[in-house]
Amino acid sequence: MSNETIKVVIAGPRGRMGQEAVKLAEKTPHFDLVGAVDHTYDQHKLSDVMAVESDALIYTDIHACLTETTPDVLIDLTTPEIGKVHTKVALEHGVRPVVGTTGFSEADLKELTTLTEEKGIGAIIAPNFALGAVLMMKFSKMAANYFDDVEIIELHHDQKLDAPSGTALKTAEMISEVRKEKQQGHPDEKEILPGARGAELNGIRLHSVRLPGLIAHQEVMFGMDGQTLQIRHDSYNRASFMSGVKLSVEQVMKIDQLVYGLENIID
Ligand code: NAP
Repeated sequence: MSNETIKVVIAGPRGRMGQEAVKLAEKTPHFDLVGAVDHTYDQHKLSDVMAVESDALIYTDIHACLTETTPDVLIDLTTPEIGKVHTKVALEHGVRPVVGTTGFSEADLKELTTLTEEKGIGAIIAPNFALGAVLMMKFSKMAANYFDDVEIIELHHDQKLDAPSGTALKTAEMISEVRKEKQQGHPDEKEILPGARGAELNGIRLHSVRLPGLIAHQEVMFGMDGQTLQIRHDSYNRASFMSGVKLSVEQVMKIDQLVYGLENIID
């Protein structure tokens, strides 16, 4: 399938991730960028509103876009609220979603899994498309077999809408698969300021830092008597996510179920 042309629509093309995805689609010979979904610039060409060469049309109505451009794949890089709607609409149109937008709840994933099964087509939702970040999650799960105590610190730019990050949540979930649930810290500890110990998932503490200048970073800290282990990943620009987007667009054509997390499509 990787040599056959894959028709792609990008939702959120003017966003920081979306711009990189447009560049990716333009430079990948077997991707054909047939349209874009935005909440503004209806019926303008992408090249009219962005510094790109593509003449693909922008649609403000996703139904019209999917009906008229008949893509194979919708790449969604928008906002948590609208990303869920787009993913559902794509599946209803028989279009395979590749979703980088974060902020999907377990209930959202359940609903989308059911819809994917009904339609019998593939979907990939990946909170982190950076291959190094996926390895960080896998290594953390491996370490959790030996370390019971772990805290996750994720650091992102200050325009990020959701906290903790999808990657931090996914890391905590993967660690929880192998780690015996444990309440960490002193049993009598008290937060002098609420939130000082971070959010909690299955006893694992998650801390979110938001600062201008950052892109996407995460450190998973393990501790036991006399030693700590720190596993860290840094994305320095949004191009770092595009190898994962490309892989996902290719892989989603080969599957007939919803896959959550890039770690499930790489060895
Ligand atoms: P961003 O720069 O704010 O881009 C979001 C884009 O979506 C903006 O261009 C926004 O337009 C557009 N948008 C808003 N409502 C829309 C609608 N109804 N229809 C179409 N487009 C709409 O954000 P970003 O940094 O690119 O991130 C986008 C998403 O990807 C976020 O959820 C982020 O957490 C996630 N993300 C994922 C990864 C990953 O590896 N999976 C990596 C980085 C970020 P306006 O600006 O005009 O409102």
